[in-house]
Amino acid sequence: MNLDDPIVKLVGVGPKMAEKLERLGIKTIRDLLFYYPRRYDDFTHPRSISGLRIDEDVIIKARVMQIKQSRTRRKWMSIIEALLVDDTGQIKAVWFNQPFLINILKPGTEWYFAGKIGWDFKNKTKNINVTQYENVTTEQKILPIYPETEGLTSKYLRKLIKEILFNQNDTSEVSSVYIEEYMPEKILKSEKLIGINDAIKNIHFPNKIDDIKIARKRLAFDELFMISLKIVTNKKELLKSRAVALRIDNDMLKKFVKTLPFKLTNAQRKTAWEIICDLKKSTPMNRLLEGDVGSGKTVVAVLAALAVSKSGYQTVWLAPTEILTNQHYENISKMLKPFGLNVGLWTGANKKSDLKKDDIILGTHALIQKNISFERLGLIIVDEQHRFGVKQRAELRIQNSELNFVPHFLSMTATPIPRTLALTFYGDLDLSIIDEMPKGRQEIITKIVTPENRQKAYQFIESQIKSGKQVFVICPLIEAKESLKINLFETDRKSVMEEYKKLSQDIFPKYNIGLMHGKMKSTEKGNVMDKFKKGKIDILVSTAVIEVGIDIQNATVMMIESAERFGLAQLHQFRGRVGRGKHQSYCFLFSENQTEINKKRLQAMVDCNNGFDLAQIDLDLRGPGEISGIKQSGVPDLKMATLTDRIMIESARFAASKVIDEGIKKYQKLQEKFQDFLNIKYLE
Ligand code: ADP
Ligand code: MG
Repeated sequence: MNLDDPIVKLVGVGPKMAEKLERLGIKTIRDLLFYYPRRYDDFTHPRSISGLRIDEDVIIKARVMQIKQSRTRRKWMSIIEALLVDDTGQIKAVWFNQPFLINILKPGTEWYFAGKIGWDFKNKTKNINVTQYENVTTEQKILPIYPETEGLTSKYLRKLIKEILFNQNDTSEVSSVYIEEYMPEKILKSEKLIGINDAIKNIHFPNKIDDIKIARKRLAFDELFMISLKIVTNKKELLKSRAVALRIDNDMLKKFVKTLPFKLTNAQRKTAWEIICDLKKSTPMNRLLEGDVGSGKTVVAVLAALAVSKSGYQTVWLAPTEILTNQHYENISKMLKPFGLNVGLWTGANKKSDLKKDDIILGTHALIQKNISFERLGLIIVDEQHRFGVKQRAELRIQNSELNFVPHFLSMTATPIPRTLALTFYGDLDLSIIDEMPKGRQEIITKIVTPENRQKAYQFIESQIKSGKQVFVICPLIEAKESLKINLFETDRKSVMEEYKKLSQDIFPKYNIGLMHGKMKSTEKGNVMDKFKKGKIDILVSTAVIEVGIDIQNATVMMIESAERFGLAQLHQFRGRVGRGKHQSYCFLFSENQTEINKKRLQAMVDCNNGFDLAQIDLDLRGPGEISGIKQSGVPDLKMATLTDRIMIESARFAASKVIDEGIKKYQKLQEKFQDFLNIKYLE
């Protein structure tokens, strides 16, 4: 058996199972081995039933006293109820839709049960929602639990992996697989890492908790090391290319700053200066400007564009949505009017630009086309860069390389990425951070609204509308695929359509309600935005499409349904849509799902008004995958590495630099692995 063999080679994997495995991203034997457990059930120390508390995840060792099956009245679902006992007490367990259990969990038999302790409202007792049960005689006492999908259990995955690693099955002729080491010996030694083969064995079949730790360390290092290799390579490439060193008229820039209706903050000055210095160099700038929502990134970028135009080159300024592009076009044209520059607009719906002549061209990705080229392109600005897809960003690079010199590159993001994350993911970019808000910004009052207080919140919203203000309502999207997965107890998601109906028919029939979602054409969206801006809409119900950059000064309430569904960084973005004018503004987080972690996260929104801190909190509570911007950034999901581990990030970076300096060709196995990594992770 070979690592690249398709998964169907395994005994017990037919076409149906193969399809399900593929849904988890598992196509080959290798994929399966590198499919890591999400967590482990540790059966070495079961808990006593008498000491269990509600909401705890526990493992107990208990005997089945009684077990019976019944059916629900609605939908006729099977319910299995069992009474479990140990020396200290008893507890009821319930399973839905697993009628076969009655033949397995026979009265008198003893098992390990893993699950969450809940509350049975009807009988006013605790119960356990069992997720796993295991034979008491099981030799493996620490069982890996994998991210599962319907019809694919951890038990099944465990069996397959065992088959691969230990050649444990009765019928087949397969020999167990050995994963060849690709990490240079030197690095394994200096970083004190175990071999890859042992790491994979230990991650799936640990004998003790320590085995998991040591395996994780190796696998985490690998992830960070591969990313680092890529970043170091990119940076090296970039340093080889040439850019036009611009001659910049500082006095003219000062004049521009004087025309602004406000004083620049120190952070704006500092970052603008970093950018201007880069533009004077003959190596291309590759810089990320990070700043919280409303910190004033636009004007910093305008300064750069102005400097570039006045030295005779063009600027292309890309924004992710048509609405935002139009808004920028209006504002920037106005700002630069006294300087006699030609500002053009280029979107799917609106192509008002002479691409050969205009100094600054604002556009959407409609501008990224093979047949569009520029002769004097000096600077590319990408606003809200995380909203562009991986492919689109790759195309931006291609556009660069077709020129005989490389334009300077400035990307901006309001997704506050903590420094450690930025170091890992955008390590090939230089970083400028606006860490200060313009003076006099009001604090937005944020409140969590529980179901009991919904009416009160509506009354408050009505009072705001009566005094002439406007309201945003954000709902999470309902996706058909996802709705199937929603289990019995999970509250349904609010869909925009439903919300729109509810608000316009039942709650606020007297007011004008607008609707906006991702499936609408951009001209339709534009029309709605326009009406909202002109005050013809009182309440705008929208999905997350509203998220970026929009500036409506008269909107004072941001109401978010099922707020726990969003990442904190994204919630903070939504909140940034209000409080842009002079009126006191409010953010209401409606939430029905009050688990501990959700409570903590939403409370963080109430307590904290700083996007960077919020992102850090989310990172600590939920891991990096959930931070918006990372998900779409094209960066591979990290399965093992924690981005709070600064030391490992830095040593991975250091090791990668050394390998690249020596030439990766020296390490053939590593080079192959790196190539695989690039192919898989970066080409979607
Ligand atoms: P973002 O960083 O989210 O892109 P913007 O650039 O859109 O923020 O700026 C938000 C608002 O703040 C704009 O209306 C802008 O005119 C204003 N602004 C920018 N800089 C300052 C400043 N130094 N003082 C006061 N207002 C400012
Ligand atoms: Mg902006």
